[in-house]
Amino acid sequence: MRIFLLLLTLFAMTVHAKEKVVTKPIALVIHGGAGVIERAALSAENEKAIHTALDRALDAGHAVLSKGGSALDAVSAVVVILEDSPLFNAGKGAVFNADGKHELDASIMEGHTRRAGAVASVTTIRNPIHLARAVMEYSQHVMLAGTGAEQFADTQTQINRVPNAWFDTDVRRKQLELSQQRESAQALNEIPTVSGAYFGTVGAVALDAQGHIAAATSTGGMTNKKFGRVGDSPVIGAGTWADENCGVSGTGWGEHYIRNAVAHDICARVAYRGDTLAAAADEVILKRVVATGGDGGAIALDREGNIVMPFNTSGMYRAWIKPDGSRGTAIFKEEGTAR
Ligand code: ASP
Repeated sequence: MRIFLLLLTLFAMTVHAKEKVVTKPIALVIHGGAGVIERAALSAENEKAIHTALDRALDAGHAVLSKGGSALDAVSAVVVILEDSPLFNAGKGAVFNADGKHELDASIMEGHTRRAGAVASVTTIRNPIHLARAVMEYSQHVMLAGTGAEQFADTQTQINRVPNAWFDTDVRRKQLELSQQRESAQALNEIPTVSGAYFGTVGAVALDAQGHIAAATSTGGMTNKKFGRVGDSPVIGAGTWADENCGVSGTGWGEHYIRNAVAHDICARVAYRGDTLAAAADEVILKRVVATGGDGGAIALDREGNIVMPFNTSGMYRAWIKPDGSRGTAIFKEEGTAR
């Protein structure tokens, strides 16, 4: 009997030990925008600064995940850092619209609950991703725009406000001047060219130790945008999507991302057709978006921690940490990939 009890105890201890080592994978993928970016136009100093900023943002998100924090907190932590960096087209450093002002868009989504929040055309919110999350958590709505979103922000003490000029940077002002010069050289009935009008939108997708996925995206939109234009970034299903198995954040020519329901289409292909994440993301980014004349990229991950980062432009600022802990940052095509 004693031997039997001893064996039983040993068996229970082994099972317990085995249970303890089984941890669910965590993974994180982030982007700082896709677009026309020529090697020659990027100084070594700038290139280094971008890698460093991506690394810092990755560290912030990974710190949340590795302590058992939620995917939602991880993507918020990443996006806030990128919004505060003047290097990216989100928060500080956002592009100028045609009136020389900034209108910011952002959204966030939690996969397993399908909760989502978004803001469009906000002008005084230092970190639009915080307001998008507040819309999700403290309002009955999913998307608030313009003055209404600002009024909602007035009710939220945790939201930092800044004057619109706080987002100004010289680089973005030059881009506006260039875009307006180009536009005035075009015939009146010609649709203004947008090539090179965007770059630097930011986003993150995370898988946490509970197996939950969240995605977030934040942007200043497109340089010289007019008439209250809103892109894909705050549109759930276009620029951002997360469900039980899959999450996406997009960056590119927003009109085409809306028309192709890019973020949702990638995850729907995985859910309904059983496509691999890689096949689904390649089909949508490299074929569907291109077929309507658009361009850009996306980051995505699934429940197993597979990460993909396809883009059809010359570059996409991106960084990742895989479930095995390996990590990297990249800008151009020939650089590292997480696949
Ligand atoms: N997708 C964004 C927009 O159209 C721009 C970008 O990704 O850089 O507003």
